Amino acid sequence: MSDASWRERVLARNAEIRARGRWRSIRTLEDGAPETTLSATGQRVVTFASNDYLGLSQHPALAAAAHAAIRRFGTGAGASRLVVGARPVHTELERELAEWKGAEAALLFPTGFAANVGLLGALGRLGRPLVCSDELNHASIIDGARLSRSEIAVYRHRDLEHLAALLKGAAHAVVASDAVFSMDGDLAPVEEMAALCARHGGLLVLDEAHAVLGPATPKHPGLDVLVVGTLSKTLGSLGGFVAGPRAYIELLVNSARPFIFTTAPTPADAAAALAGLRILRSAEGEALLTRLRANVARLRPGHPSPILPIRLGDEARALAVSQALLERGLLVPAIRPPSVAPGTSRLRVALSAAHTEAQLDALVTALRELGVLDG
Ligand code: PMP
Repeated sequence: MSDASWRERVLARNAEIRARGRWRSIRTLEDGAPETTLSATGQRVVTFASNDYLGLSQHPALAAAAHAAIRRFGTGAGASRLVVGARPVHTELERELAEWKGAEAALLFPTGFAANVGLLGALGRLGRPLVCSDELNHASIIDGARLSRSEIAVYRHRDLEHLAALLKGAAHAVVASDAVFSMDGDLAPVEEMAALCARHGGLLVLDEAHAVLGPATPKHPGLDVLVVGTLSKTLGSLGGFVAGPRAYIELLVNSARPFIFTTAPTPADAAAALAGLRILRSAEGEALLTRLRANVARLRPGHPSPILPIRLGDEARALAVSQALLERGLLVPAIRPPSVAPGTSRLRVALSAAHTEAQLDALVTALRELGVLDG
């Protein structure tokens, strides 16, 4: 056994991460997206990093709803809802989230990450199901499946034949997938997955965190579908939820540890998300979605989501191109291992309805100059 102290071991690991060129640090932005200021240098930049797809985090109606909730309920929720009780805004939000997703009921979690961990953990305690998981699923599905102590079978990305083969012999299978993959921006074949689950008696768990432009949740006779969502991206707030048949939601209230043993979302976050959801479902929301679709088409016609990967392969190259864009006032994060597999480093352009045509044109021009537009 090494006789190095804990501190020495931590410093050695940090040095190793640096030596591999994988050191990460957090930058601070002075004000709201998309146009903002880097605190460290005072440089004005346009950011293409945020998942605030409709720009709702900056919408005055969400801020007003949060302020009103603070005035009425105070800032913190105080404890888990099973201990301290819900505030009306929690239950109202759950009702409208369920209605939006076409589900019987919904349950809030502190984040989307906690929603996946809570759901998969609760399902795992029903006799170790087989969790079939796309190889590019989000970390919260991977960790949720691991923590649930289920059997886990990882299938090749979007590969229905592979999935069908896994489902064939399985008594109780859960198929869990991002609906829109968070680092690739491509879609899961949700209709075909629903048909496969229906055929094999499986349960479908779809994480719709990034599904602002679709795909729609599949409906299949005889199939139970659980939707995981977040309040933190399209809805401009913070929090997560699961929506589905009432029996599952009741099970989660009684068995999902990241619901039971954690403090409820703040009333302000719930109120902001509720205001965001109402805008999303209104004519204003339709207009924002149309705008987002047009912004995506301006950069990559036919692309199905606001996440545009520009694959560069090499980590150093991805960092260099990201740096070159920053020098032009464009903040586009380089995504590297462990967020993506080695050799698949990329820029991840996240588009918003709040981006102007001039901002998009500046990005296209810079990407062209750097020779990576269609990467
Ligand atoms: N699922 C997916 C597919 C995600 O991309 C993310 C966030 N990156 C989450 C879940 C977690 O959501 P939250 O940020 O609300 O924890």
